[in-house]
Amino acid sequence: MFQKILIANRGEIALRVLRACKEMGIKTVAVHSQVDRDLKHVRLADESVCIGPNPSPKSYLNVPAIIAAMEITDAEAVHPGYGFLAENADFAERVQKSGFTFIGPDPDVIRMMGDKVEAIKAMKKAGVPTVPGSDGPLPEDQDECLKIGKRIGYPVIIKAAAGGGGRGMRVVHTEAALINSIHITQAEAKAAFGDGTVYMEKFLQNPRHVEVQILSDGQGHAIHLGDRDCSLQRRHQKVLEEAPAPGIPQDVREATYAACVKACIDIGYKGAGTFEFLYEDGRFYFIEMNTRIQVEHPVSEMVTGIDLIKEQIRVCSGLPLSIKQSDVVIKGHSFECRINAEDPKTFMPCAGLVKGFHAPGGLGVRVDSHLYNGYTVPPNYDSMIAKIITFGDTREIALNRMRNALDETIVDGIRTNIPLQQMLVRDEAFRKGGVNIHYLEKKLAE
Ligand code: ADP
Repeated sequence: MFQKILIANRGEIALRVLRACKEMGIKTVAVHSQVDRDLKHVRLADESVCIGPNPSPKSYLNVPAIIAAMEITDAEAVHPGYGFLAENADFAERVQKSGFTFIGPDPDVIRMMGDKVEAIKAMKKAGVPTVPGSDGPLPEDQDECLKIGKRIGYPVIIKAAAGGGGRGMRVVHTEAALINSIHITQAEAKAAFGDGTVYMEKFLQNPRHVEVQILSDGQGHAIHLGDRDCSLQRRHQKVLEEAPAPGIPQDVREATYAACVKACIDIGYKGAGTFEFLYEDGRFYFIEMNTRIQVEHPVSEMVTGIDLIKEQIRVCSGLPLSIKQSDVVIKGHSFECRINAEDPKTFMPCAGLVKGFHAPGGLGVRVDSHLYNGYTVPPNYDSMIAKIITFGDTREIALNRMRNALDETIVDGIRTNIPLQQMLVRDEAFRKGGVNIHYLEKKLAE
């Protein structure tokens, strides 16, 4: 096992990783930008290194500075959290070449999954169900593209192979609009990702977003930890998640899990990962794989009792998985509300001094947050300041606990999206379960 891990991230996830390291008896190094010197995990870490000024390209994305910090502190491994460098294959490679361990899959696997066309190909091969589509990049030939569109049937969606963060996608409703849309998406993809490769998929009209959590040791063992429903999204950003996804037939989910596990073994996957699917009319359609720990991982931890970060660290240190599939029992239900420092109506980020913070509590309530009284939320980074997670034996109990937890929470000094979350947990359709990915935006439009 590692003696010392450098945490190349900030905020709640850096604190989450630090807690896991401490439990495992591993020393920690926090790296931070200038403004982040007072972050909670920086104060709690064994050592800390300032790696640059506030803009993330100069600090949290500054690869030479992070590698140098590993060298001067003798850290053996780096945990990238999510965002920043977590899915950057070049970073993972640099870490390896410098003689350190990247806590995540091998660079080649990150690279393959970062190219959605390649990822879909690999998943198809492993028997994971995918969205009907172009089976590869769209050709130059316009007639060929029109043929593909006809075969798939409209509406279709044009997606950038290198896309991410909900960018590089365009829905096309009619054949007449197809060629022009392909050209625009190609140009946008080239500008945003440096790669103009695009592909075509059937546009599913009312799907849910359901994802499968896996753990794999790269030594031939992989397990799944069930699924999560993350359909409540605004601009492709998840807002409120739950595990398990409600109302999915057991045989359908089991078949999907089995395919995901097989795919992990096939590609030699190592670490924690997520297979994202759209779910419509009783069927799963793979859209992409995330090769990192995700924001919403706690809901899976709550219903399985398994610490995903600890397992991730274990398998990336070269140990085999400590749990078998038969050890994984999904019990109860869990919700997570993302609390953002933003205006609940306009969604404008809202940085500033937190004059008072009162966290919720009680049975089945977990708060993952770096917030404290007197902390100043800087304007430079993601606006998420806390995750409130609840657990209960039934969906209704977990949801009622979330309602209470949100009502108890006080963040004084800055605006947050708590009012939006309070509205959502009281929403009748959401309380029934199984709303689709358009539900939140439609509701907001009302
Ligand atoms: P990103 O990597 O940018 O997050 P994804 O491929 O995961 O891109 O897609 C993001 C979101 O876009 C999905 O959660 C879904 O809301 C929508 N989407 C993507 N593909 C389709 C599709 N074929 N049909 C309908 N919606 C889609």
